[in-house]
Amino acid sequence: MSTPAVVRWAMPGPFTAPDGRVIACPQCQATERLVVGMDLDDVDSPEPSWLSCPAGHAWPEAGLPRGTAALILAEVLDAEPGLLASLDELRREYGA
Ligand SMILES: [Zn+2]
Repeated sequence: MSTPAVVRWAMPGPFTAPDGRVIACPQCQATERLVVGMDLDDVDSPEPSWLSCPAGHAWPEAGLPRGTAALILAEVLDAEPGLLASLDELRREYGA
């Protein structure tokens, strides 16, 4: 088995799922600074993405399938290419 290539990135702000619901932490209702954990070998899957909030809660978010998360990340990087530079910062902050 190969080690999955996982990238963790912060969503730029509150995110509205395709079903119209704002994605929030089920435990503390945080909607900002949510971090998506993505397996880069599984970016075309309908499985839920794993999210974590600033308080350290983690959950599988059915409103954000992995394929959708990958599309959002691509758009975010288009709009803000500097985001990749902050991934190291994120790793420090979240201990990934
Ligand atoms: Zn939380």
